Amino acid sequence: MTISFKDKVVVVTGAGGGLGKHYCLEYAKRGAKVVVNDLGGTLGGQGGDSKAADLVVEEIRKLGGQAVADYNNVLDGEKIIETAVKAFGTVHVVVNNAGILRDAQFKKMSDLDFQLVTDVHTNGAFKVTKAAWPYFRKQNYGRIVNTASPAGLYGNFGQANYSAAKMGLIGFAETLAKEGENHNIKANVIAPLARSRMTESILPPPILEQLGPEKVAPMVLYLSSENNTELNGEIFEVAAGFYAQIRWERSGGALFKPDDTFTPESVAKRFDEIMNFDDSSKPDLLKNQHPKMLNDYTSLVDAA
Ligand code: NAD
Repeated sequence: MTISFKDKVVVVTGAGGGLGKHYCLEYAKRGAKVVVNDLGGTLGGQGGDSKAADLVVEEIRKLGGQAVADYNNVLDGEKIIETAVKAFGTVHVVVNNAGILRDAQFKKMSDLDFQLVTDVHTNGAFKVTKAAWPYFRKQNYGRIVNTASPAGLYGNFGQANYSAAKMGLIGFAETLAKEGENHNIKANVIAPLARSRMTESILPPPILEQLGPEKVAPMVLYLSSENNTELNGEIFEVAAGFYAQIRWERSGGALFKPDDTFTPESVAKRFDEIMNFDDSSKPDLLKNQHPKMLNDYTSLVDAA
């Protein structure tokens, strides 16, 4: 299998450095026309500088690839897609990668810390994807990769804002996967860990050494390629060359009679059962529902 992006227009947000830059270089090497978006701000989201995106474009052009720079904030997603359309006629791939950090213990987290992080990660991804969506539908082709984080999946001290924003990107992709299914639009999610300015001051050097951002790009490229005809609404953890899928698991659960025995006390008594994964299932909306949820209560309770 060869994965090519010839004739494909790819928009990568926040691509002036870190992970996004690597994606752009790899896309360009495989023939894509790349929009390198980055407003060039600080890690906390202050300021702006067109240099970050320009340098990546320069590097791509030196390699013989095609790229244009875009300096818009992801919150102006329609302008980013406009850049793609003006330069290359359409858009086939959106990688929602732009991000900032404003870490603080929850007791000290300000409204602004929460708002700005949610804006860039979640609202920004919404705005860019929303602007690309009509093109995807019209051409019956689109690929979206959202960037979540282990902090979103598992929580992380000092990152209530970031965790909430990142988990939001998962639900967002899962619904886009369902709405895009009939238009050959696939939306998937990665939860990466990589060396970048986001992790450089947090992780020890021997660990950072193993976390090259180039080890994340192959997953992003595969998910967003024409070759991916199956994966839609999936979540992958990607770090240091280790690639694994994350999915939901529901315990066998307990069914309560809808009568006066259904009390907080009876729930407390049956927590072992509620949390017993011996008879677990892999749920999806309206598919693979647990029989206890869908079947008639009375017959189930009677049969129990
Ligand atoms: P990075 O800081 O190098 O890259 C993020 C880029 O986004 C920066 O270049 C920044 O200028 C740009 N950006 C910020 N706000 C923007 C906005 N409003 N509009 C346009 N561009 C904007 O960090 P990175 O590690 O390469 O992060 C890339 C993505 O991966 C982020 O979404 C991050 O949350 C996610 N992530 C990274 C790690 C990791 O270990 N590095 C872990 C989990 C998730």
